[in-house]
Amino acid sequence: MEQTLAIVKPDGVARGLIGQVLARIEEKKLTIKAMKLIHMTQAQAEGFYAVHKERPFFGSLTDFMSSGPALVMILAGDHAIAHWREMMGATNYKEAAEGTIRSDYATDIEKNVVHGSDAPETAAFETGYFFNAFERV
Ligand code: GDP
Repeated sequence: MEQTLAIVKPDGVARGLIGQVLARIEEKKLTIKAMKLIHMTQAQAEGFYAVHKERPFFGSLTDFMSSGPALVMILAGDHAIAHWREMMGATNYKEAAEGTIRSDYATDIEKNVVHGSDAPETAAFETGYFFNAFERV
C-alpha cells in the first residue's frame, strides 16, 4: 500500500470544501491514515515548499499556504500518489481534466484547493513533515 500526503489548502477550507474533498476520497476507496487541521506559519510553509524556493511565486505561495487553516492527511492505497494526483487534476485548473477537484473548484493557478505528493521520495518527506508515528493509524 502506497502512502501520499494530501492537503485541503486554505482556500478549500475557507470555502467549505472539506466535505466535498473527503467524499471523493472515500468514494474512490483511498484510506485515510492520518488527518488534522493546522494553521502553518510562513516559516513552516517555506519548509514544506522548500523545493520551490527559487520560483518567482514562492513568496506568494507561502503567504497563501499560511493564510488560514489547512487540512492535512495521509492517504493510502494502490498507487495512492498517482491516484490522488489524478483526482486533483493539473496544477493549472484551466488545464485540469473534467471532473477533477481542481477543474470543479479551483479559481486560480495558486489557489487550487488541494495538494498531493508527486513521488515516493516527496511523499515520505511530506508525510513526515506533518505527522509523527503516534498520529498515524
Ligand atoms: P502541484 O504539484 O500540482 O501542486 O504543482 P507544483 O508543485 O508545480 O506547484 C506547487 C503549488 O504552487 C501549486 O499547487 C500552486 O498552488 C502553486 N503554483 C504553481 N505554479 C504557479 C504559478 O505559476 N503561479 C503561482 N502564483 N502559483 C503557482
